[in-house]
Amino acid sequence: MFVRSLPALKTPLRRGFTSGTVSGLVEAIGNTPLIKLEKLSKETGCTILGKAEFQNPGGSVKDRAALGIILDAEKRGLLKPGGTVVEGTAGNTGIGLAHVCRARGYKCVIYMPNTQSQEKIDLLRMLGAEVYPVPAVAYENPQNYNHQAKRHAENDPNSVWTDQFDNTANADTHYRTTGPEILSQVGGSGNIDGFICATGTGGTLSGVSRYLKENAKGVQTWLADPPGSVLDSYIRSGGKLKHRAGSSITEGIGQGRVTNNMAPIIDQMDGSFSIPDEETVEMLYRLLDEEGLYLGASSSLNVVAAVELAKVLGKGKTIVTILCDGAYRYQTRLFSRTWLQSKNMESAIPDHLQKYVVLP
Ligand code: PMP
Repeated sequence: MFVRSLPALKTPLRRGFTSGTVSGLVEAIGNTPLIKLEKLSKETGCTILGKAEFQNPGGSVKDRAALGIILDAEKRGLLKPGGTVVEGTAGNTGIGLAHVCRARGYKCVIYMPNTQSQEKIDLLRMLGAEVYPVPAVAYENPQNYNHQAKRHAENDPNSVWTDQFDNTANADTHYRTTGPEILSQVGGSGNIDGFICATGTGGTLSGVSRYLKENAKGVQTWLADPPGSVLDSYIRSGGKLKHRAGSSITEGIGQGRVTNNMAPIIDQMDGSFSIPDEETVEMLYRLLDEEGLYLGASSSLNVVAAVELAKVLGKGKTIVTILCDGAYRYQTRLFSRTWLQSKNMESAIPDHLQKYVVLP
């Protein structure tokens, strides 16, 4: 198994596994390490591995999708030099797009729900994007951020709506990059038993699952869902969409419909877990304390789900999940006592980890 072992690192930190250089920001996307979570692996008797997507230049797994959909729009002749990329995004795709747009000379326009963290909005503007935070309304409502992004692009002939939710260039990029990277990092077919992660667009879960199901013998692929998302009930009920129940403190994940990206794979999922926010918050602090990993809530939810999958699959298995982004974008929420109290999450943090709640 070719998992990068943190204690064995003797050379200065650099991207990827080979020596040499990459050409510009675009080539620095991907080839992230696969980190063995030591404490949780010991605890479960399994090998729990996290794909360190927070190491991408824009700081999240969505750099891959952003690059994939821009390259696809260029290839299809939809995006011309000096053109504009318009997207509806909860933040990370926008950040990835803003980076890639700067690197390739495009203008970037972002519509996002105004419930998202201020850090993400500020960062997008610092990266030169034009940002429109709009009221968070259901997809069925014409004022939903995705529909507003689409209309913006329709009114500007020099622009393209990249449509991350239903543009399958998103999942395809994970099929071409994330999936093969994971399989090669574990040492090939037969060395991975489970893959699990949460979905926003579904690009990551769908693309990686499709690749692994085609290339890794016997692998199971599972969905991890936050409260308020319908996909867990969809999978458990064999294809019936249920109403949203509750809401979640996680950002960027949870879905009310089956997107075009998820559609080809959702009926092949081997199972699903709905993860309560309390477990996500506790794991977020544990990962910091025990593994030294400072991660956002979707990563933490993924790790909780990987541990649940370890219990289902049994000891000795290898389970991979995604560490989507770092906590930097959410620190004024996730590490603020007032915010945690306002979400009834303070008591989810064990006493010995309360010392990490450093913000008032
Ligand atoms: N985690 C975070 C923090 C995200 O921003 C997103 C995308 N919105 C995801 C996970 C889910 O990724 P995907 O869109 O590929 O399902």
